[in-house]
Amino acid sequence: MKRTILLLLPTCTLLVLMIPISASSNNLVESPPPTFTPTSFYYFPLMVKNWPWRPEKVIIVIWDGTQRAHLLEMLDNGELPSLENFISEDAVLLLPYIDSASCEPGSGDGYRTETGPANSAIATGLGYPGMANWRNKDRQPIPDGLTLWEWFKGRGYVTGIVCSMDAQFWPHIPLSNAKPDIDYWQVGWLYSWVTDLSIEFIREYASSRFFLWVHYQEPDNVGHYYGENHVEYSEALVRLDGELGRLLTELGAQGIEDGTLVVLTTDHGFVEDGFGHGACNSDTKELFLAASSQASGFSGCVEAQTDIAPCIKGVVLEHQ
Ligand SMILES: [Zn+2]
Repeated sequence: MKRTILLLLPTCTLLVLMIPISASSNNLVESPPPTFTPTSFYYFPLMVKNWPWRPEKVIIVIWDGTQRAHLLEMLDNGELPSLENFISEDAVLLLPYIDSASCEPGSGDGYRTETGPANSAIATGLGYPGMANWRNKDRQPIPDGLTLWEWFKGRGYVTGIVCSMDAQFWPHIPLSNAKPDIDYWQVGWLYSWVTDLSIEFIREYASSRFFLWVHYQEPDNVGHYYGENHVEYSEALVRLDGELGRLLTELGAQGIEDGTLVVLTTDHGFVEDGFGHGACNSDTKELFLAASSQASGFSGCVEAQTDIAPCIKGVVLEHQ
């Protein structure tokens, strides 16, 4: 399932990018929607749909070990209808990468294409020198105060993690400093239970500001057992696509989809036709990310995996 991938930025991306500029420069966040004028024709409908452009809730969903090329081929084949619908209706698809020349310490801010360091990088926006994890075997507590949970908790958000992994390298040791600031801690669940517990959290805190991290161990675990080109790897992504649909449906049922920034991505890729992700190449370092249009200003911000956390903070601060 290897092929050349072209940059897929839907034309609506450009429209989405126009919105925060208009909203922030005119300080419209606390004001009624603007009067329609011909110059605002192209972005006015989106502005109304997503008014008031305030991501009061942020959800990060991780599909562990998803190879970008494999995912995009399935997307093209119509095998991931929830993701396809998410992108076509409400989200932008970005293609970030792990910014590390050799995946070794000393190589830029390098870290290995493994779950512990990559999740730590997403959670902090930092490479190895900052977040302290460069491979699973050398797991370290992320230094105090550097994770998104702590950042959101300090701003009055309810914080949570629902994680299928129950490993020392993720989430236990890296998040040991952050754990006191995580209100809802659920780890070690199968994929459908991850969604069930996430939905419970969403229902409980639908009227609050919240930050929720949702981590599925698939398709990584399946890839390690069957291999990346096995049908089971694809089937795992199909299951996750169904779980994404359940999560998005719940946001709609609670009437909070327009106030929720949803970021769907992976921690690392997978070796082509292989059983792991230890190689440091495009199949393991080139990622995918889909972000809902509540990410106004977000989509133009993310190029590398370590951009995700600072770009989320930027969007939230801009619209507070
Ligand atoms: Zn793995």
